[in-house]
Amino acid sequence: MDVRAEGLRFDYPGPLRAVDGVDFTAREGELVCVIGPNGAGKSTLLMLLAGMLDPDAGAVRLGDATLADLSPRDRARRVGVVPQALDRLPEVHVREFVLGGRYAHLPAFGRARTRDREAVDAALAACDAADLGERLLTRLSGGQRQRVLIARALAQEAPVLLVDEPTNSLDPEHQLTIFELLAQQTCEGRAVVVVTHDLNLASQFATRLVLVQAGRIAADGPPAEVLRPEVLRGVYGDRLTYGSLPATADGVARPFVLPWRAQ
Ligand code: ADP
Repeated sequence: MDVRAEGLRFDYPGPLRAVDGVDFTAREGELVCVIGPNGAGKSTLLMLLAGMLDPDAGAVRLGDATLADLSPRDRARRVGVVPQALDRLPEVHVREFVLGGRYAHLPAFGRARTRDREAVDAALAACDAADLGERLLTRLSGGQRQRVLIARALAQEAPVLLVDEPTNSLDPEHQLTIFELLAQQTCEGRAVVVVTHDLNLASQFATRLVLVQAGRIAADGPPAEVLRPEVLRGVYGDRLTYGSLPATADGVARPFVLPWRAQ
């Protein structure tokens, strides 16, 4: 299912215009990384796409439906959200937490059925977290916790997945594992949108990069078009070093960008 936004605008009380006339698309099978400096409006954009905030102008469409017209249950059938690592986690076991992602599929006040338990098992397995089911959420490492947050969203079986900074505080191996897992979701026809500061993981895994600056889209294109000094200098300054790595499995060479002072 495609997610499309047109003319999105959002002001926080103040007023502070956090999102200022954004057109955004993520198509089925795409992994779109939203990049940009701190305070650019990335998380606000993600919350608008998720329906967690209502836009002051513009609209979000999920397939042929307008997000604002959908009930919370219908939204949850279409969009799964992986929030930034939660500060306060509930004192529950992993399996119970992931089952919470099935809310939209459970009958009101109903109990989980076999189908729901199977979805939870499949989501945990997809996230390499099958052995964590009986553990307490609060006792997991950062990497395990992140995998469980993604599993909860996958258990929802929604065709659109919105993910906010999934690799913060993870070691390099776990960063790769998380992005591989997200990229895998696109093979199953999902549209995946990931907010990230990691330009190199974005370069490696994204079909498209959307660069946000001061609430607007400053660039939108494949990694090789966006990760160039001409595009990034005005956003991140001139203290980055640019290069390119040989072609990956899809035959496309990928640019990389390092916060490495030239002198
Ligand atoms: P990013 O995710 O790119 O760091 P955000 O979307 O979090 O940016 O924030 C965009 C702007 O909105 C920033 O100036 C930020 O300070 C402001 N902002 C974010 N959340 C709130 C809030 N709850 N109340 C007021 N201002 C906010």
